[in-house]
Amino acid sequence: MRKILPGSILSYTQYGYLKVAKNIKTKCPKCSKTGEFALKANFYQVRKTGLFGEGICSECKKPSEFVIMLKDQPNQQVKEADIYIYDPTASEGRLEHFEQNKNMPIDLVRSYTSALNVSQSQDNSATAVMSKRVLESVLKNFMGERTKDQSLAQQFEQLPEHVDLTKPIHALSQLVHPDRPFNAMLDLEREIDDETAALLMELLEGLIEYLFILPEKIESVQDQIEKKLNERVKRF
Ligand SMILES: [Zn+2]
Repeated sequence: MRKILPGSILSYTQYGYLKVAKNIKTKCPKCSKTGEFALKANFYQVRKTGLFGEGICSECKKPSEFVIMLKDQPNQQVKEADIYIYDPTASEGRLEHFEQNKNMPIDLVRSYTSALNVSQSQDNSATAVMSKRVLESVLKNFMGERTKDQSLAQQFEQLPEHVDLTKPIHALSQLVHPDRPFNAMLDLEREIDDETAALLMELLEGLIEYLFILPEKIESVQDQIEKKLNERVKRF
């Protein structure tokens, strides 16, 4: 996610006591041009932490997702809510990030790097071939050699038995346990320094991405791929 700086916000709307960005001028994650985004007003609220919004790029007409962070400061004067755009291209060092991730097997980093390279050189067939290799590599990482004679579909069906998707949530339940210092910090019974505050924001960002943005992203990309492929079937 990339934070939208106040200079890029063209106009605001009022949401309770908060000023929330309405029109934004920023680099579009989809077309890389500087586009104007009018955020849709029908935000849906994510608990107390944030709002989701969608804006269509004036340049390529494609939608991007925005996250508006709400702060609990109703006693303050009009406050401006921080806003972020979901921009996978924002993390330029994404690949480096992958490479530094100890959990990621080397062959996955390699196949992903190749997929990225061929997609950037717009070799579509090679992108398809390399993408399949990335998917196989992901599956192999969790399921080992037993995957050899199975189709991708069969392997994905079994994947949830081999990967514990609830682990990060369980870890979080430990972190916020009433006896832990973290919980005392949330209740302001313990001081919080700048570094910890930044880590806290990073944690929120990760959690929101994990629970809300990523599942929706994967689903909506799947829908788009299926629609696209069905269109082609009809045409022929
Ligand atoms: Zn665009």
